[in-house]
Amino acid sequence: MHEWALAEAVVTSATETARQQKLAAVEEIVLNIGELQSIDHEMFAELVQGQLSSAAAEIRGAKVRVVKGEAAFECQACKKEFSEQDAKVGEEEREAIHFVPEMAHVYMRCPACGSPDFSIVRGRGVFIQEITGRHD
Ligand SMILES: [Zn+2]
Repeated sequence: MHEWALAEAVVTSATETARQQKLAAVEEIVLNIGELQSIDHEMFAELVQGQLSSAAAEIRGAKVRVVKGEAAFECQACKKEFSEQDAKVGEEEREAIHFVPEMAHVYMRCPACGSPDFSIVRGRGVFIQEITGRHD
């Protein structure tokens, strides 16, 4: 299962970060999930939380919090970086784009030059945004 492997990678990476930062006990792990990544945030947080119970001692008690990473696009023609808001995408179109990111090219144009030729620079993937805890 894809989500399971992803959760495992998060736990491994969080453990390494905690050790690098010499944290004795991690209190919170903030996960950034890109809005174009079709993962149920609540379900994924629970999955990570579940795996933490059998993780290394220093991160076992951590709470998992998920924040949404906003999508960003870069125009290939004029190099402008823009968001969905800049491109004035409607609510329904936005939902379609979040479901199938390639749809962005159907519904969006570069707000600066009108080109449909742009790439997704942010909004995909999962990364650890922040780890907080206490040193002994
Ligand atoms: Zn442009």
